Amino acid sequence: MAERKIIFSLIIFSLFVTGMYNNSFNCIKVHCKALENNYTFIQKTAGAGIPVMAMVKADGYGHGMVMAAKAFERAGCATFGVAELCEAVLLRQAGIPGDIYVTIGFSEEDAGAIFQYDLIPVIYSYEAAQALSKKAAALGQKIGVHVKVDSGMGRLGLFPTDLSTFVDSISGLPGIEIAGVMSHFPESDNPAVKSTIKNFEMFSAACRGLKNRFAGISHIANSGAVLNFPDTYCDMVRAGIALYGYHPAGRVGSLKLDAGNLIPAMSFVSRILQVKTVPAGTWISYGHTCQTEQETRLAVLPVGYEDGYSRLLSNRGQVLIQGHRVPILGRICMNMCMVDVSGLEGLKAGDEVILLGRQGQENITADEIAAEMGSISYEVLCLLGNNNQRKYIE
Ligand SMILES: *Cc1c(COP(=O)(O)O)cnc(C)c1O
Repeated sequence: MAERKIIFSLIIFSLFVTGMYNNSFNCIKVHCKALENNYTFIQKTAGAGIPVMAMVKADGYGHGMVMAAKAFERAGCATFGVAELCEAVLLRQAGIPGDIYVTIGFSEEDAGAIFQYDLIPVIYSYEAAQALSKKAAALGQKIGVHVKVDSGMGRLGLFPTDLSTFVDSISGLPGIEIAGVMSHFPESDNPAVKSTIKNFEMFSAACRGLKNRFAGISHIANSGAVLNFPDTYCDMVRAGIALYGYHPAGRVGSLKLDAGNLIPAMSFVSRILQVKTVPAGTWISYGHTCQTEQETRLAVLPVGYEDGYSRLLSNRGQVLIQGHRVPILGRICMNMCMVDVSGLEGLKAGDEVILLGRQGQENITADEIAAEMGSISYEVLCLLGNNNQRKYIE
């Protein structure tokens, strides 16, 4: 009896301890209403007859795959896209209904899971078709597949000129039918570039070449095409970055959108660890890449590249404190970085720091951070979102 009591107390105690101590200084806040707003805007842009596949790969571009999918679902979404099979299975296990596309293929030994979880496979090889057909025959079921075409992306898929032969080659396989043909644009974020129209013509010609051997749908438009190329919507569009509140072309693109149409859903909040004043001539952080020119007030932050705040932001990035922009001094460390808060009064350890998002009148976007890193908002969202605790604001 006494033993049981001890074990029980230990369990209660450990729950108490983990419940108390599992909060990081750093927190990603995901604003669910923004996700819903963005889905509604993209659906309105695509038009009523055209479903929007919400791309939720990469853990929902850092926003949390399941929670993002649920937000889009509340806004009316019934079609979801991920890269890998394992992501699709997680969505189903979390109770996400509707169509779930696995867009980069699957291992043949995993073909069974496609049926078990009622997923939609994208294929680009005879072997994948054969594996699905075998499984379909064994289960006495039929499966619809989407064929991936490479119409100018230079990435995954069949060449448009090979589509017809491929379709013929798998037409004899039992239990399998072609439910769709899809491709992807490399430059649709820029409305001035000619490749999008060329790529689309190649894709359309390949689809037309199937004539009466194909009764499925076709889809190619990503966020860039939804915003810039309405003639490419086909039967469905697939949006990613726009649903998370960013224009695929970065700041340049956002300027052309009416403010408020796309609302960034992610912010990154931290707090000050220590405030201290250092004399002129003090070297700051690893490598001594920064030396103070005058007496300087420093704030040490518990944010580093381990938290997705890239080392490329060393001596470049800015953060918001008391509604003001303050610059990063020196190298970003693994778990810490320093900012110059010389102009600010009354700062103390524990005060709020915004690394991404709004504070007062100021706003730091993923586009801004990306520009400092020589990257794109997509990467910033994945890095910050997927390396920190997330909180969801309804
Ligand atoms: C990620 C992805 C998209 C979405 O791209 P965005 O530029 O984020 O809109 C569309 N289609 C496929 C196949 C993708 O992998």
